[in-house]
Amino acid sequence: MRAVRLVQVGKPLEQADIPIPEIGSSDVLIRVAAAGICHSDVHYRAGISKIDQLPLTLGHEIAGRVEEVGSDVTHVSAGDRVCVHYLVQCGSCEFCVRGLEQFCRSGQMIGKHRDGGYAEFIKVPGANALPLPDEIPFEVGAIMMCSSATVLHALKKARFKPGESIAIFGFGGLGFSALQLARAFDSGDVYVVEINPAKLASAATMGAIAIDARAADPVEQIKDATAGRGVDVALELIGCAKTMRQAVLCLAPLGRAALAGLTAESMSIFPYAELINKEAEIIGISDHLATELPALIEFACSGKLRFLPETLRVVELGAAEINAALDALQDSIDHVRTVIVPSSDK
Ligand SMILES: [Zn+2]
Ligand SMILES: [Zn+2]
Repeated sequence: MRAVRLVQVGKPLEQADIPIPEIGSSDVLIRVAAAGICHSDVHYRAGISKIDQLPLTLGHEIAGRVEEVGSDVTHVSAGDRVCVHYLVQCGSCEFCVRGLEQFCRSGQMIGKHRDGGYAEFIKVPGANALPLPDEIPFEVGAIMMCSSATVLHALKKARFKPGESIAIFGFGGLGFSALQLARAFDSGDVYVVEINPAKLASAATMGAIAIDARAADPVEQIKDATAGRGVDVALELIGCAKTMRQAVLCLAPLGRAALAGLTAESMSIFPYAELINKEAEIIGISDHLATELPALIEFACSGKLRFLPETLRVVELGAAEINAALDALQDSIDHVRTVIVPSSDK
């Protein structure tokens, strides 16, 4: 089968012809119909996130049709439409038994620790293949398994409740889903903090209160707009110490700041005035859980989570196309997501 693989860190991905994986009794073989190209993949190619074992087929945002199932797999069968949960768990460690597979002691991420979806076929444990309703296109099924899933997890971790106000820092792929999912939870006012005029305009079109961080301190703007109160929840999706601090400072009493952006910078907080005094919380967000995905699929099915056709770009499963998409993603300024659709899926 065709696969596009990372062979050497810091170099373009290469196309290879490799055997179709053989499945075990608990596995599922999926014919890939769509594989999202994610910003994490840019980091893997560049060596910013370390890949232990090369060559490796990248791609952790995957949807397709079941080609073959192992004898122990009963919840899906050949021909079914599925999307893939990218965290492979052992199922028996102290974290897995509590349903917290993102901390599995021997957990693996598909497309990072084991071969991913930039290929015609992928083998995954049966438990990682979730039925994908007909209403959801493969392309959407693929991309919502990463950014949308992380944002849903962030809202859950922040204990976001109907009627609560929220500030979303960053309106890229994550922020785009965050605004829609906050709405799906019957949010109160939604503030979107951005510096990009096109993104601010698009957030406003979608009903958010756009906060232009270039115009004035976003914390002051949010405080002004809420009569000094602040917001109940702040989501930091950028990965920058400055905006993480702003996310904490714009909180109302009992507010929760959920930090999902990645950065190696350190952040300073004055404990009494900025945290203790208002019993605010800072919550770290890492990946998501399999148990959260059915709700996400339901939101997509009911139209509460949508991806406009003009925000999806389709490319063929080829090294040149994928490398070009990764290059473009490095300085992406819009919501356009690139999805690989192998031409063999007819
Ligand atoms: Zn991703
Ligand atoms: Zn485990």
